[in-house]
Amino acid sequence: MKDSYDVVVVGGGPGGSTCATLLAQAGRDVLLVDKARFPRDKTCGDGISGKSKAILKEIGIIGELEEAPHSQMNGVIFSSPNGKILEIESQKPGEGPAGYVSRREVFDNVLFQHAKKFCDVVEEFSVAGVVKEGERAIGIEGVQKGSKDKVTVRAKVVVGADGALSPVSKSLGLLEADPKHTLVAIRAYYEGVSGMKDKIELHFVDEAIPGYFWIFPIEDGKANVGIGMVIHDYQKKYRGKSLESLMFEVIKNNPMFSERFKDAKMISPVKGWNLPVGSKYRKIHGDGFVLIGDAAGLIDPFSGEGIGNAMASARMAATTIQNAFTNNNFTASALKEYEDRVYRELGSEMKLSYKLQKLGRYKFLLNMVIGKASKKKALRDLVGTSLLNPEAKETLASPLFYLKALI
Ligand SMILES: Cc1cc2nc3c(=O)[nH]c(=O)nc-3n(C[C@H](O)[C@H](O)[C@H](O)COP(=O)(O)OP(=O)(O)OC[C@H]3O[C@@H](n4cnc5c(N)ncnc54)[C@H](O)[C@@H]3O)c2cc1C
Repeated sequence: MKDSYDVVVVGGGPGGSTCATLLAQAGRDVLLVDKARFPRDKTCGDGISGKSKAILKEIGIIGELEEAPHSQMNGVIFSSPNGKILEIESQKPGEGPAGYVSRREVFDNVLFQHAKKFCDVVEEFSVAGVVKEGERAIGIEGVQKGSKDKVTVRAKVVVGADGALSPVSKSLGLLEADPKHTLVAIRAYYEGVSGMKDKIELHFVDEAIPGYFWIFPIEDGKANVGIGMVIHDYQKKYRGKSLESLMFEVIKNNPMFSERFKDAKMISPVKGWNLPVGSKYRKIHGDGFVLIGDAAGLIDPFSGEGIGNAMASARMAATTIQNAFTNNNFTASALKEYEDRVYRELGSEMKLSYKLQKLGRYKFLLNMVIGKASKKKALRDLVGTSLLNPEAKETLASPLFYLKALI
């Protein structure tokens, strides 16, 4: 590790590894640091959507991902509080699988090892925060595992890609823990769950409202099983009850699952983590720095999907940083281009997902939409594409749609 780079990227998750790769491929001198040693686990549902797939294709690592342990997904199964099941195919002919489920220990390692080919990488380096000169970020300081000495590395631009609790964002005074705009979720790995198909499962069951219970099939017939909801809703409705006990209640007592989990065995500890969602504006740039992915709070407020937006924001940040080098201007006004683009390109989708998150609190709406869609193909297609397609999401988020569906 040198003591100065063009760009220092803090965090080697999907956001950081993508950003570091793109910038280094474009000729920048990049340092990527992470406090962990890879491969490392990351608490997640492990669902890799079509949005992520498109970026993986662009950076040329679909082949590596498909060679590593994973499962291929070709649709979604929804269920409503009254037990109606809606199964949607989403594979397009000739386009390969619609998405993947890849354990983050595997997925992130593929991205991280790819980044290593292009830039300097230091693992087990824990960043304490950003070093500033006046208002301007001029580098980072941190400690290598096993050492007590603080190391400072200078950079023209610091990229905070260090996740939901981002020490970079915190040191800049930008980290907010807002329970109305943060989800909490837990997951465990199981073997022996019966009835799984090549589809991810999102279940709006009574025990999990206002949130959902998921089963995502991973390799070798195993599953990533979890439950999540907005922290504020969870504290209001389930005070004193752990998310873990809610998940076990669904598995043991809900008639849709008790049979399917009859011979199932939990093969990992239950782990939980926060998901900062994009249902509010957050400042994600400034003099000499940008924040991307979870550090910028860009998780979809309805689905909880964050890998796609972490990679999409990484790509936008890389473009802005390249422009900053072209113009030799690393001020907040130059880097604002990144923030503007994030809110322009992801903002309306986030707003619609926030509306859907709110509508998902009403059991009768979930029963009605899932019930009717299970019988009507046009509605089924609309619900199916709504996870990906902003126009379909807009229709689903419109009150007129529910009025029409009721009549
Ligand atoms: C239970 C759960 C289920 C989820 N399910 C899904 C899903 O199925 N699909 C989906 O798309 N999204 C899902 N998400 C969201 C997804 O996990 C995140 O949006 C995604 O990981 C964001 O990527 P990132 O690169 O921004 O940050 P992260 O993946 O969190 O990576 C941050 C990196 O920063 C490093 N770091 C942290 N602090 C420091 C420090 N001080 N110094 C150096 N390095 C540091 C960490 O070690 C880590 O490697 C889920 C989240 C949870 C909690």
